[in-house]
Amino acid sequence: MHRESLYKRYIPSAPSTPSKGQPAYWFVFCSDNLLVTAEKSTAPIPCLMDLADLNLSPIRTQYLGTLDGRACYSAELLPQSIAPEGYVFSDLRSLYARFDEDIFRLAGRALQIMSWDQSHQYCGRCGHPTEQLQGEMAKTCPICQFTSYPRISPVTSVAVLKDDTILLIRHAGSRGRMRTIVAGFLEPGETLEECVKREVLEEVGLQVKNIKYFGSQPWPFPNSLMIGFTAEYESGEIQVDGKEVTEAAWCNVTSISDIPPRMSISREIIDWFIENHSNSV
Ligand SMILES: [Zn+2]
Repeated sequence: MHRESLYKRYIPSAPSTPSKGQPAYWFVFCSDNLLVTAEKSTAPIPCLMDLADLNLSPIRTQYLGTLDGRACYSAELLPQSIAPEGYVFSDLRSLYARFDEDIFRLAGRALQIMSWDQSHQYCGRCGHPTEQLQGEMAKTCPICQFTSYPRISPVTSVAVLKDDTILLIRHAGSRGRMRTIVAGFLEPGETLEECVKREVLEEVGLQVKNIKYFGSQPWPFPNSLMIGFTAEYESGEIQVDGKEVTEAAWCNVTSISDIPPRMSISREIIDWFIENHSNSV
């Protein structure tokens, strides 16, 4: 899998005070929805000296670093804020096709940092207001010294392969009739390989072997890191519980359908399978 590094153009920085006097990119959120231009322009993110230029008064702002040398901020508005003229609030998922990859990734980072700042204003241990730790993406409690960092929840996503087929499953809560590969959250104390084996066994009753890393993808809905794998079928018969997973089937390239949208790593792995097995039918 080939994914350009965000760090070619973007320099992250722990919270600090950037130099003023130049317009900055503002990733402005209202209830997790991002402020973008209403017209489908090539520059959908507002680039401004200050949010006051759009008559917006954020509750909090966070410095994110620089993109192409320009400062970037995230900002949180009060719920029910009205978008300024010429702008709309949009769900980040719906903007995938409109943004270039770097802007989408940076918007995801902005969403996670804004949301972490919002939900960690008070110490999770003693309830005292937290303070930003200088030079780090961390908050600390001045009373009990408890320190918290942005939460990232790893999720493994695995394509189980058998001969010239791939296992596709349908979740009870999936949108429409979408089918995808097995995935699940890492549990405390577990390795990624153990997570892959446990999830496949729990969801479809199969044993797998030869687990290989495929690639990873930040997934800010709300704070995951998707870690993709392939694995070979080892033993067992497909068994679904009918509650969480309603269907599971071995599919060759001609029977693959109703798969996830292009923005997800699950889709990338399925596309990789199709590309590598197109001559086998
Ligand atoms: Zn505390």
